[in-house]
Amino acid sequence: MADKTLRDLLIHTIKDMYFAETAIYKALPKMIDGAKNEDLKTGLTQHRDETKNQITRLEKMFAALDMRPASVPCKGIQGILGEGEEVLKEFGDGEAGDAGVIASCQAVEHYEITRYGTMHAWATELGLDEIAEAIEETLAEEYAADEKLTALAEGGINQQAEQGEGMGGAQRPTGRGGARTGATKGRSTTKSAGSRSTRTTRAKGVAKTASRTKSAASKRATAGKTTRKSSGRK
Ligand code: FE
Ligand code: FE
Ligand code: FE
Ligand code: ZN
Repeated sequence: MADKTLRDLLIHTIKDMYFAETAIYKALPKMIDGAKNEDLKTGLTQHRDETKNQITRLEKMFAALDMRPASVPCKGIQGILGEGEEVLKEFGDGEAGDAGVIASCQAVEHYEITRYGTMHAWATELGLDEIAEAIEETLAEEYAADEKLTALAEGGINQQAEQGEGMGGAQRPTGRGGARTGATKGRSTTKSAGSRSTRTTRAKGVAKTASRTKSAASKRATAGKTTRKSSGRK
């Protein structure tokens, strides 16, 4: 289609996110039910409310473009949510369940961040300031949700996932007990798969990767624009 423009591309992506946010809104109750940690449940419930608001915000973007809301199927989010369900099925009852829920939800947040970050740049380029601002508001919420998940993971859920609760190590395979701390903490995590402390590395990797992605994406999304992001909301 030689006649398709950047504006068309932005509209296509707004439709994609309209589909994605709606799918996320519908999928979140499963994650909330599957989560055991109360703070995690609360955080996800709050983000579900925000997601509802984000759907409304997308509808306002359509209105600003003189369009009715419409969707195009987003295979990306379908895949991510599908994987989340699989992880829940496989790990939900076990000690690593909440770490799995966090990982799945962070994959969702990262998808949203990459899309909204791009959309923000396009809307700004096109001089669609009202839309750019709406995107920025949503983007701030996605970053905040991602950060909160990182804080929960690093604030005890990963560790608990590794140790189990009230098991005293009795049901764990032998030979892993001492390997947890130090070896992987605070280290770059991307290439350590396959090392003997893989289990820990992976769990920590979620959080570390999340933080890194955040700062890089954050810079990109706000580049060249006033940073009125995350106006004190949690
Ligand atoms: Fe969202
Ligand atoms: Fe998509
Ligand atoms: Fe995958
Ligand atoms: Zn989100």
